[in-house]
Amino acid sequence: MDLFEHQARQLFEEHGILVPRAEVARTAKEARACAERLGGRVVIKAQVKTGGRGKAGGVKLAADPAAAEITARQILGMDIKGHTTRAVMVAQPVAIDAEFYVSYVLDRAAGCFLAIASAEGGMDIEAVAASRPEAVARIPIAPEGGVTRATALDIAAAAGLPAETADTLVRLWHVLIREDALLVEVNPLVRTTQGEILALDGKVTLDDNARFRQERWGTDQEAHEQELEAAAAAKGLNYVKLDGEVGVIGNGAGLVMSTLDVVAGCGARPANFLDIGGGASAEVMADGLTVILSDPSVRSVFVNVFGGITACDAVADGIVSALKSVTLTKPLVVRLDGNNAARGRAILDGRAHPLVQQATTMDGAARRAADLANAR
Ligand code: GDP
Ligand code: MN
Repeated sequence: MDLFEHQARQLFEEHGILVPRAEVARTAKEARACAERLGGRVVIKAQVKTGGRGKAGGVKLAADPAAAEITARQILGMDIKGHTTRAVMVAQPVAIDAEFYVSYVLDRAAGCFLAIASAEGGMDIEAVAASRPEAVARIPIAPEGGVTRATALDIAAAAGLPAETADTLVRLWHVLIREDALLVEVNPLVRTTQGEILALDGKVTLDDNARFRQERWGTDQEAHEQELEAAAAAKGLNYVKLDGEVGVIGNGAGLVMSTLDVVAGCGARPANFLDIGGGASAEVMADGLTVILSDPSVRSVFVNVFGGITACDAVADGIVSALKSVTLTKPLVVRLDGNNAARGRAILDGRAHPLVQQATTMDGAARRAADLANAR
């Protein structure tokens, strides 16, 4: 589970890491009151569980409480990469002297943790890593040793960070280990013009296997995708929200996983995925389509079914009757293969719906779905 920035900020503060003074507001009026308490001039930041908020217009400076109210009104409700902004963080602005990148992440392949750090923080770290890989230091951290002051100084030296960041690097490690996190990322970690080292942003991913002792974060989980995930789970469907534009429905976890890869290979990004499992009755299909279509970031839907015990004609019947109860608002690309594929395709052909099209191969269907998502 990912934490909101304001929750990550709270953890950082508990571990003695310097953070800007800040409060959370859920209405524009509240944001104004926060700004009054914080000295007037503030930064308003969308609280959504995705990065790149700055570029999307979700991080803005407001000169005084009246401006804070107006800016908060603009940002609240804003859709950022499919995530609806339901709260903003109102923070005291910081005068930045330098911006750094630092993260600790579990490297499952290597069986250790990895410290990733760069003196070129603030902007898109993926872009820095792609164009100038030498500017991003990657240092394996042995789980039993962890990050001591000596390790922290090594990380700082390798990445070109000032030695004053070492204390913060050790404390961020404590956040990772003591709070059951799989990822702790700070971008930017800044040196202020006063020479203080401050975490200006925070991303923390908790290990879901440790949820039983991390219950305090469970209460204000109100994001739309979680509502959708819960709605899907209540209907026995396995639904996961992702960041792209192609909705993916498939039968069986393995097929759905490879469908995500094929969609990505066609230059589009999956918006979500829904595994309808073995059953593909009309009801399951209708429920699945309803969940997928209520995700506002979906631009096309790819239904990828390999008929086994549930034959393709049954799936086709399911789609046909689902379309009687669900209003299709986005193009649907269907690929049926396996048991009774020809009969299934004939059923769909016979009930032509203007927004439904078929493809015979997984690659062909993925390409169509990707093109449709990218075209609109
Ligand atoms: P992200 O775009 O989702 O990563 O959101 P960030 O919290 O990292 O904010 C984006 C950018 O806004 C940062 O890289 C900073 O350059 C800038 N920013 C955020 N807060 C402040 C602040 O208090 N003062 C200044 N000068 N810039 C800030
Ligand atoms: Mn950031």
